[in-house]
Amino acid sequence: MTTRAQPFRVHRLIDRTVLVGVVAIGVLASPAPWVWLTSFAGTFVALASAVLGLAYVVTRWAEGRSPRIQGPRRKPPPIREEAFITAQAMWVMAGLVAWPITAARLGASTGFTWSLEGTGWSIPEAIAVNVAGVFAVDAWTYWKHRALHTKLLFGFHRGHHTFRDPTAFASFAVGPFEALWTFLPVLIVLHPAALHWGPAYVTLVVGFVCLNMYLHCGVEVRWLEAIVPKLGLNTSAFHNVHHSHVRANFGEVAFLWDRLCKTRRDDLQVAPAEAAEPSA
Ligand SMILES: [Zn+2]
Ligand SMILES: [Zn+2]
Repeated sequence: MTTRAQPFRVHRLIDRTVLVGVVAIGVLASPAPWVWLTSFAGTFVALASAVLGLAYVVTRWAEGRSPRIQGPRRKPPPIREEAFITAQAMWVMAGLVAWPITAARLGASTGFTWSLEGTGWSIPEAIAVNVAGVFAVDAWTYWKHRALHTKLLFGFHRGHHTFRDPTAFASFAVGPFEALWTFLPVLIVLHPAALHWGPAYVTLVVGFVCLNMYLHCGVEVRWLEAIVPKLGLNTSAFHNVHHSHVRANFGEVAFLWDRLCKTRRDDLQVAPAEAAEPSA
């Protein structure tokens, strides 16, 4: 239905434009194209290696465990497709991250610093700012995800839902347009006034990657399922319901907005296979 209402080829054309566009804009608009290009290439290799490498480790671990949330697999998971789309998402992310890295290599001032003194914050202030940042990222990703489930935009998100019973390789297997939308906030750090304390920032990013791996690994770890919800964060069981039912559990970090908007469904168990459909 969605593909007829909004031709999938339009979304695919925009996705491909994003893939080419992030690099073209970097090369054409950067004051130092070669510095930007080498920053992009290095970031892409580092991101793709780290994310796909961690996905390999998590998948090797998870696929040997039982019971699986969605039951035994009837056929091998499409790991190659998941990994390829993930690599495209890392390409887009590298096209964004290359900007602050280029700025730093050129000696320009940015909002990123490894030093707490450089931020001018006390420890309590640093904690408060980073907690606020987590809330902001959670709101950004929840409402992005809700928007991508509308008829107009579902074509950009449909690919992620082809992985109904995902592996960790699907953690970042989103199309280029969705990747651009997801990771766009990394550009905020370009503004010198938008202070980011490196140790906390990197820890939270790594934590987000690890959480996303767990959300897509396909199995439950009992102690994680007990502890993680107490922190307000999503779990593997929670996100598998989204892949199974499509119309519930949109949170990508926490379940705050799902609770507020009544899109959290604790009553749903993993459902039999159904076609992915948009839901507003
Ligand atoms: Zn997912
Ligand atoms: Zn979705």
